[in-house]
Amino acid sequence: MTKDIASVTLPDGERIPKLGQGTWEMGEHPSRRKAEIEALRGGIELGMTLIDTAEMYGEGATESLLGEALQGVRDDVFLVSKVYPHNASRRGVQHACDQSLKRLKTDRIDLYLLHWRGSVPLEETVAGFEALRRDGKIRHWGVSNFDVDDMEELVGVPHGDACATNQILYNVARRGPEFDLLPWLAGRKMPAMAYSPVDHARLPKRSPLDDIAAPHGVSVFQIALAWVLRQPDVFAIPKSGRIEHVRDNHRALDLQLSADDLAAIDAHFRPPRSKRPLEML
Ligand code: NAP
Repeated sequence: MTKDIASVTLPDGERIPKLGQGTWEMGEHPSRRKAEIEALRGGIELGMTLIDTAEMYGEGATESLLGEALQGVRDDVFLVSKVYPHNASRRGVQHACDQSLKRLKTDRIDLYLLHWRGSVPLEETVAGFEALRRDGKIRHWGVSNFDVDDMEELVGVPHGDACATNQILYNVARRGPEFDLLPWLAGRKMPAMAYSPVDHARLPKRSPLDDIAAPHGVSVFQIALAWVLRQPDVFAIPKSGRIEHVRDNHRALDLQLSADDLAAIDAHFRPPRSKRPLEML
């Protein structure tokens, strides 16, 4: 039995959880496997039922771990996976998707993303995604690491406007998308999927996040996550292989940052005043 949490709306009207779970670097160490599965399943029970993975992660090992973790709860989950750019030809996506489905032990991926832009023409990738959608192997498709110019080009190709989301690096220390990409996506009613929302655990050692966290009795990770989640058109996929951290991340949904908190964050992590090229990890 999963709990309901706040949601965002995809362009076709489907609602998905605002807080999900990432999986990068999971499934790579046998000694961590049990804790990772416990963390993922615990998060699902808390309502963090949107789970992001990729064929790249552990070269399939992460999808295999996730396939195991999802046994018996697959239907509660909105499952996201990503195809390598070098597999993103019209026929390549068919094969890559079949392999992902096998590892994930499921018959459909809810959202299938192009991991980043490669050399395959976008028309081809979109045609491949649309064919997968017609076959019922994926339910939605989208992109990742696309800047505004890539998005403009995408919506110009046949069926390109069916893109559901853009998964991007966005957190308190990487605010470039606020200048142009987030407004562009909002204008298309396309929510942005924020990856590395706690900056891959590389937040600065000392920052106003510490002073804000102390009176709330929470960690800087929770403040950083609450900062991302406070924005209506953004959803986030923090990764944690520890159930305690997953619970902490879930609690970030209830944290309210004051105007003073936000001003202190802006003073240290400056919002962009001009175009910054989209960063990626
Ligand atoms: P992240 O979620 O910002 O940070 C993960 C790191 O933070 C892990 O070391 C984790 O350690 C730690 N952590 C998480 N919550 C914590 C908490 N409450 N307290 C203390 N430590 C905490 O970084 P990410 O994994 O790079 O990004 C999230 C997901 O986005 C990925 O897993 C992946 O699914 C996706 N992603 C996509 C792309 C792309 O190109 N599309 C790139 C990067 C990531 P523990 O596991 O020990 O808790």
